[in-house]
Amino acid sequence: MKVVFDRMPPENQKAFMELANSHTQDGSDDITGRIRTNGVVTGFRDRNSSGAQGRYTAICKDISRINHSCRPNASWSWHTDSFSLRVCAVRDIRAGEEVTVAYCDALAPAAERAEALVPYGIYNCNCGPSCNDPAGIRIGDKRRDRFRFEPVVVFAPHVPPKVGEAPDAWVKPALRRFRELEAEGLEGCNEYHRTAYQLINVYCFLQDVEKVKKYASKIKGVHRVIEKKEFPASFSSAEGIERSQYYQMSEMRKKAGIPESAPILISFA
Ligand SMILES: [Zn+2]
Repeated sequence: MKVVFDRMPPENQKAFMELANSHTQDGSDDITGRIRTNGVVTGFRDRNSSGAQGRYTAICKDISRINHSCRPNASWSWHTDSFSLRVCAVRDIRAGEEVTVAYCDALAPAAERAEALVPYGIYNCNCGPSCNDPAGIRIGDKRRDRFRFEPVVVFAPHVPPKVGEAPDAWVKPALRRFRELEAEGLEGCNEYHRTAYQLINVYCFLQDVEKVKKYASKIKGVHRVIEKKEFPASFSSAEGIERSQYYQMSEMRKKAGIPESAPILISFA
């Protein structure tokens, strides 16, 4: 590591040594300790390697300084094509609010997160009730368990809606999941992306343009992180939504004279 460090320009060496080091007591030297504290796993790896071998870590002058939260408002993703690490907001960030990312798996239970944060010098994460309040931890752990192991899959009912029932009553489990993910501040995770995607498809099918726009605006950030590209802008305008696959499916049912109460045999996943 020293050889690599010595080849860096002096201003980069200075910036590197100014980064935090939480590995001062475990035998790590000054350079390795800073790499362990500030490295971001990139997903970039040697072609002929497997497992943990051949993986590359990025140390960034500014991005490595972003603090941790188990309810982060941003997430990072590695782009090999431009050889860059990008930080994207996963929900609206107020002016003056600190930008945070997760150093550990934010979907892991509180005890596991606490253990994973120790190497970063974080001994008592105080990011919210799912970390610092016994009742909040119980609720947060149960929710995270469901987010990980019981993904919501939306299927339309095979029976007509009951009298007086809202046309989207069958979407409730997905709406509840979405609210719980937001309550836990987990807008950067796969389950949030999956659930938002399904809600967009469902509301395209139900031809509820305003709700499609709402969920399209919420999926934007996490889509940049997971898919590494922009979410299609077509879901932000009435014209674009009307051209979408699910909106058109609904249109075809109407044109074919299929009654609204007929079963909808469609997966929205
Ligand atoms: Zn926390």
